[in-house]
Amino acid sequence: MRRRPMLEVCDVTTCYGRIRALDQVSLTVEAGEIVCLIGANGAGKTTLLNTISGLVPAAGGVVRFEGRPISRLPAEQIVRLGISHVPERRQVFGSLDVRENLLLGAYSRARRAGPAAIRRDSEQVFELFPALRSRSRQLAGTLSGGEQQMLAVGRGLMARPRLMLLDEPALGLAPLIVQELFRIFAGLRRSGTTILLVEQNARAALRVADRGCVLENGRVALRGTASELAANDGLQRAYLGQTNHRRRPDLGGPDSLTSG
Ligand code: ATP
Repeated sequence: MRRRPMLEVCDVTTCYGRIRALDQVSLTVEAGEIVCLIGANGAGKTTLLNTISGLVPAAGGVVRFEGRPISRLPAEQIVRLGISHVPERRQVFGSLDVRENLLLGAYSRARRAGPAAIRRDSEQVFELFPALRSRSRQLAGTLSGGEQQMLAVGRGLMARPRLMLLDEPALGLAPLIVQELFRIFAGLRRSGTTILLVEQNARAALRVADRGCVLENGRVALRGTASELAANDGLQRAYLGQTNHRRRPDLGGPDSLTSG
């Protein structure tokens, strides 16, 4: 019998007043995969992550995590189930130091796990991001952009998520830092963390992802394996550099290359 996907987004519609930001979007993420979401500005990528993590309510459809419907649960309960959301624009607490930011990431499990486990986990984050270790007492607001992004991801990891939602983690970062971050994402996947990644840098995302999904005006325009998407002409023109204006791409039809 086929195992259920870890995450199932089924016909989800999300509205802001009269604006329909997501229109019957369906998507699955299997345990152990990296799936990337690609799309122009305003396509609905952030809205999809916010809907999954319970920050905005779905107006229709259902989101299931490990078989359990979560679309009506409050955000803090969704975190406790094992979904960690690292939002766009590295939202760290600027007036707290690095260590305090990490501790806040463990907030939902601190009482259950106890201080020794939380210390071990922050040690693991420092191993993953050595640049943060030497700055553990530095105020987060004074870190560089790349360091803040690492801290935001590290804080997300402190919740010990089974699924991480990463919203444009490479935004505004220098190419070398982007490479480093994506290397870390690949490592996280190898150690069993499943990732749904929103990324404007489609080339970098498709290099690290197993599968991808292209959103256009709140709808799924195309989906497939990373190599299928990388080879798609319309997607190459729109997102992989040839024109790079990222507006209403002609993807050669709305249908999927593969299901899922
Ligand atoms: P970007 O790549 O620019 O971050 P995105 O693909 O993440 O874009 P969303 O931020 O999900 O897109 O926005 C989808 C649509 O919903 C856009 O038309 C946007 O203007 C609208 N929208 C997003 N947030 C709100 C809000 N809080 N109130 C009203 N409209 C919103």
